[in-house]
Amino acid sequence: MDICPKCGLPKQACVCEEIAKSEQRISVEIVKRRFGKHATLVKGLGQDVNTKEIAKELKNELACGGTVKDGVIELQGNHLQKVKPALVKLGFSEESIIS
Ligand SMILES: [Zn+2]
Repeated sequence: MDICPKCGLPKQACVCEEIAKSEQRISVEIVKRRFGKHATLVKGLGQDVNTKEIAKELKNELACGGTVKDGVIELQGNHLQKVKPALVKLGFSEESIIS
């Protein structure tokens, strides 16, 4: 059985990640990349959140490519409208997302 190192509860009973998610201050930013292409940056995901897993879910949800670098998720294309509901669906609170 997996025990959470933070709260000492079994992983199934642990809510650390949920708490971490609700305490995030996430910012969404659209940047321009080479050849006039856009990318959507999701910043501010804390260390308690599994950024790689979130990136994977977002890529599935938005059907796009993307990478994670230094805790920042970069999604290919402009997803300003869709990324917020996608993050909410993943358990982040709407108020915590600034765009
Ligand atoms: Zn925990």
